[in-house]
Amino acid sequence: MSSGAPRGSGQVVRLSRGASLSDFADRIDANPGSLVQEMFNLGEMVTATQSCSDDTLLLLGEHLGFDVQIVSPEDEDRELLAQFNIDLDAEVAKDRLVSRPPVVTVMGHVDHGKTKLLDAIRKANVVEGESGGITQHIGAYQVHVEHEGIERAVTLLDTPGHEAFTAMRARGAKVTDIVILVVAADDGVMPQTIEALNHAKAADVPIVVAVNKIDKPEANPDKVRQQLTEYGLVAEEYGGETMFVNVAAKPGIGIDELLEAVLLTADASLDLTAPIDGPAQGVAIEAHLDKGRGAVATVLVQKGTLRAGDSIVAGGAHGRVRALFDENGTPVVEAGPARPVLVLGLTAVPGAGDTFLAAEDDRTVRQIAEQRQARRRAASFANSRGRATLETLMEQLKEGEKTSLNLVLKGDVSGSVEALEDALFKLDIPEEVQLRIIHRGVGAITESDVMLASASSEAVTIIGFNVRASNKVRETADREGVEIRYYTVIYQAIEEIDAALKGLLKPEYEEVDLGSAEVREVFRSSKVGMIAGCIVRSGLLRRNAKARVLRDGAVVAENVTISSLKRFKDDATEVREGFECGLTLAGYGNLQIGDSIETFEMREKPR
Ligand code: GDP
Repeated sequence: MSSGAPRGSGQVVRLSRGASLSDFADRIDANPGSLVQEMFNLGEMVTATQSCSDDTLLLLGEHLGFDVQIVSPEDEDRELLAQFNIDLDAEVAKDRLVSRPPVVTVMGHVDHGKTKLLDAIRKANVVEGESGGITQHIGAYQVHVEHEGIERAVTLLDTPGHEAFTAMRARGAKVTDIVILVVAADDGVMPQTIEALNHAKAADVPIVVAVNKIDKPEANPDKVRQQLTEYGLVAEEYGGETMFVNVAAKPGIGIDELLEAVLLTADASLDLTAPIDGPAQGVAIEAHLDKGRGAVATVLVQKGTLRAGDSIVAGGAHGRVRALFDENGTPVVEAGPARPVLVLGLTAVPGAGDTFLAAEDDRTVRQIAEQRQARRRAASFANSRGRATLETLMEQLKEGEKTSLNLVLKGDVSGSVEALEDALFKLDIPEEVQLRIIHRGVGAITESDVMLASASSEAVTIIGFNVRASNKVRETADREGVEIRYYTVIYQAIEEIDAALKGLLKPEYEEVDLGSAEVREVFRSSKVGMIAGCIVRSGLLRRNAKARVLRDGAVVAENVTISSLKRFKDDATEVREGFECGLTLAGYGNLQIGDSIETFEMREKPR
């Protein structure tokens, strides 16, 4: 009867949200297999390494006599910060609070005009402003409007679409105060309109509806109002509480009214205040690696004031602020609440939605960053850890002949990694296959990505989206048998992963070098065009083989074919190293003496 799992007598066991039975077993010094067995007895099939729901952990705890306490990642982080005497939720005396601008996210159905509206708002402001500078895309920007005689600021998050919004919420970051829901008046309420509305409701964020494209003859703005009442958004003019504003983003109509509505809604339903003094806190909105400038992050300050020279930590990245820029690329000295700024000086790229904070000194931020990194690594390893026999058995029992496709995703900006991951999870995955993303991150593919992949008990493929691995990392990957695939277009990545999941991957070809030759003479013949007299320097040349031409080490022609090959006067199919030959190339007519011709074959690569 006894399966060997220890029995507690009410001892507290603290587990991270989403912990596995292995994690639980570690805490109570048990064999993970025995916990799988216990869960089995309780009527639930759970593998040792799968992430469990709160209910499962609590149920098992109760069954074994432990007082399980589930710690959310936010709580864990709070505890970590507490070690450094940092309290993010510390009460601030009322007289230290100042009012701050609302932070707005634009959402709505595709093609209803989100991007155009963000452009229109930005432009309307540039005309008024003095700078007239070109606004850069940094993920957020601030505009100023006159409202009841006072100039007020509004901050807009410049990533339309729902992914950014949900990604930030998923990390527990509350960034958005108000959602502008864009609905095209010529199209009406559509599926993503409802999706956006639900996101906003779930986040408890008030909505202002922008009824867009009213310049179109077929526009029917009243119908939009009508339709949305069914979803609980009743326009003020119909006795409801939601402000609807007719706009046309393209010609720029109604933009000021829309911003007024945002401010009115903010004043009516939100208490937007924040402390302006004290070390800055906020959220990373967007970040990427810049060749010249290193990690570049846009952060939204939520409390306090951020200044150049501050030591900051954002997610697992830390550093000292080298410079701050606004959305016009203008250096700024400091940024207060609701101000988005571009920050230079972080040692790594934080994720979108990671919280950031300024602290006393470099040492503190470095220690916080290191501890966070360690925790993330542990979490990744927990998901990819090799399995013991019993668990493998149980797993197969549960999953029949399941196979899984395991991925590490790396991308140039956090937004692209998230978009890729999101799209992957929306794939229609065959029953017998499981898709697992064991790690994700921004930046080049590193040695530690490869080690993580090779440490897994199953094959793991690393996906590089707009990023590459260095030669050294590539060597490690080869040695460890880890496959790396590169993509620059999201849909292509999705397509191939989809195909792999369905076991339908097309054969893959690889280039196999045949040989190279040096051009020593060039003739022109009226009949066949350019003929090159060459000497084969390595390997062999073969008629009809693919080739490329190099001049001083640079490729000058790609994708050419050796269309004819001669030894003296006779046609040859092959010419070997050390011999002279004459050849013509199809696809390139500009050979010069000293050029090198490299030939290769495409061979199907075994999978
Ligand atoms: P998004 O997918 O929601 O970001 O939509 P876009 O901003 O890309 O706009 C989709 C299309 O609608 C584009 O061709 C825009 O030019 C057009 N559009 C956007 N706003 C207006 C508008 O106010 N009037 C008209 N006539 N067309 C608009």
